[in-house]
Amino acid sequence: MANWETVVVNTDLLICGGGFSACGAATEAAYWAKKKGLKVTLVDKAALDRSGAVAMGLSAINQYVGIKDGENTAEDYIRYVRSDLMGISREDLVYNIARHVDSTVHLFEKWGLKIWKDEAGKYVHEGRWQLMINGESYKVIIAEAAKNAIAAAGGEIIERVFIVDPLMDGNKCVGAVGFSTRENKFYVFKAKAVIAGMGGAVHVFRPRSVGEGFGRSWYPPFNSGSSAYFTIKAGAEMTCQEVRFIPVRFKDAYGPVGAWFLLFKSRAISATGGDYMVVRKAELENWKPYGLVKPIPANLRNYLGMLDTEQGLGPLYMETDEAIKNIAAQFKDDPKAFKKKMKELESEAWEDFLDMTISQAILWAAQNVKPEEKHSEIAACEPYFIGSHSGASGAWVSGPEDLPTPYKWGYANMTTAEALFAVGDGSGASSHKFSSGSHAEGRIAGKAAIKYIVEKGKEPKVDMAEVEKLKAKILLPLDLWDKHSKETTDVEINTNYLLPRQFLHRLQKIMDEYAGGVISGFKTSKSLCERGLELMALLKQDAEKMGARNHHELMRVWENNQRVYQAEAHIRSILFREETRWPGYYFRADKPKMDDANWKCFVNCQWDRKTGEWKMMKKDIWTMPGV
Ligand SMILES: Cc1cc2nc3c(=O)[nH]c(=O)nc-3n(C[C@H](O)[C@H](O)[C@H](O)COP(=O)(O)OP(=O)(O)OC[C@H]3O[C@@H](n4cnc5c(N)ncnc54)[C@H](O)[C@@H]3O)c2cc1C
Repeated sequence: MANWETVVVNTDLLICGGGFSACGAATEAAYWAKKKGLKVTLVDKAALDRSGAVAMGLSAINQYVGIKDGENTAEDYIRYVRSDLMGISREDLVYNIARHVDSTVHLFEKWGLKIWKDEAGKYVHEGRWQLMINGESYKVIIAEAAKNAIAAAGGEIIERVFIVDPLMDGNKCVGAVGFSTRENKFYVFKAKAVIAGMGGAVHVFRPRSVGEGFGRSWYPPFNSGSSAYFTIKAGAEMTCQEVRFIPVRFKDAYGPVGAWFLLFKSRAISATGGDYMVVRKAELENWKPYGLVKPIPANLRNYLGMLDTEQGLGPLYMETDEAIKNIAAQFKDDPKAFKKKMKELESEAWEDFLDMTISQAILWAAQNVKPEEKHSEIAACEPYFIGSHSGASGAWVSGPEDLPTPYKWGYANMTTAEALFAVGDGSGASSHKFSSGSHAEGRIAGKAAIKYIVEKGKEPKVDMAEVEKLKAKILLPLDLWDKHSKETTDVEINTNYLLPRQFLHRLQKIMDEYAGGVISGFKTSKSLCERGLELMALLKQDAEKMGARNHHELMRVWENNQRVYQAEAHIRSILFREETRWPGYYFRADKPKMDDANWKCFVNCQWDRKTGEWKMMKKDIWTMPGV
């Protein structure tokens, strides 16, 4: 076995991940831990300042309820999420986040985030729930607060350590193991409680950007399903694993469309000029009651555009030029003011990308796009797993203690594995929390985890013989490379190992062709899912043969292994749910209609730690009384 040092870290609370939810958890947990003399340790695979989905920055905070100013209520937010997810949401969790999210946003402002204000000093909204921000340094600001809180409480932040597996004592999580992506160090974290906040997953499906464009995707390439893998491997019940997210974005560089639709009031059209949201409105009747709600659910908006492309009306375009001209039109009688407004809008258009998706600005420049002169192509991206956004996949977690929710087994956001909490993209069925809501949820879980430790925390019992086995398994790819790489003239062709990139292509091919990726027009069926699972079983056999040349490739190996579990949970859940509920995200082509009578329920699944078998189950929907 590779001769790596084993570093043991003892802590009370272990926070896995360093993104928005983990930073929220750290900030809150450290506050309570300090009072109780407990230690909080946060571990991120990257550098906290620029890790996770918000690494590049964002131009809007997508969840702000505005309770203080009477703009909306938490109940309004429940209604919004309920319709957008076609009736499938954990209303207790959505409510809990919605009632706390505003205070999180106020903290962001206190910490130095610039939120746009109008002349009257009120926040500038992009849409009903969204606030405009100067967000290039959004993540840096939120990370700084987490760092300060942990430092003040005498805790520890460990960067560039990739968390692989949970450590379990029966059904209780007692820590985690991982490895440094820079040094020859294998980490063992022993903890009384653990929070999984390692984001969602990308590159499970083959991306549109392949070849020279590989690495570009809407969802950041850094998150590879670690939260899902970690909770699945802990034996925790998972939910909504079928509810992937497919955003429609500017094509090939995945630039955001929110500002265009909401702020600039732009239209999306087909190649022949038809506004598919208008032309295909009648189709929405087939998906009522959700199809008739405003705003129209994200998947249905996608679906109407997809119907156009299926009928040869693609490419689809964002009417940027029309939108800019419409706004500037109010100054048409004053040429100087008109010119000034056009310049201002043009720079806002570019800044929207420079704030968060710089590659889109580069692509526009490379393709001579002038948004004020000509429209730009948009397309449905490949599927992602992002339970905090408009998807819903994640762990099944306990609801808030003060609500009459039937889904409650003690501490807020604790999974069905004791002492293991899940947040952000890691917790399921509570979509539309976005950056601010993920942070708020992290705070909720951070506080609950400290409460759990105070009330029930015991010294973690870690089986070090088991840890040694895990160490050997996790470092095996380095051994395979060392042992066999000199046996062939081309190191990439070897009968004793395959490299992570080769493995990834196989996984993506299976998902793309059998589980409803881009190539199959997002369509799948019972038979396709079953065949996909057969191929997945073979792929899993080869997973043990992945070789790694260095630290970086070792990380790629384990990212792949983690993606496989996310992928399998996804196929199994699509197979189990015998209906099409989210057209525009995926179609069960053999069950093309929504079936409320049988399937207005959560689909949950659980991986058995002893047998490796999956159990699939239905869970009832609970609606908040009076909402
Ligand atoms: C393209 C895009 C645009 C978005 N736009 C907006 C917007 O405009 N407004 C808004 O409010 N929200 C937006 N969101 C949503 C927001 O970014 C997410 O809701 C939020 O980041 C989720 O928080 P999280 O903690 O679950 O994941 P992340 O913030 O992504 O954090 C995941 C963390 O886990 C770490 N990690 C991953 N794997 C491991 C591992 N194995 N070991 C250790 N650490 C690991 C990562 O390094 C990272 O620190 C957007 C998301 C995307 C992808």
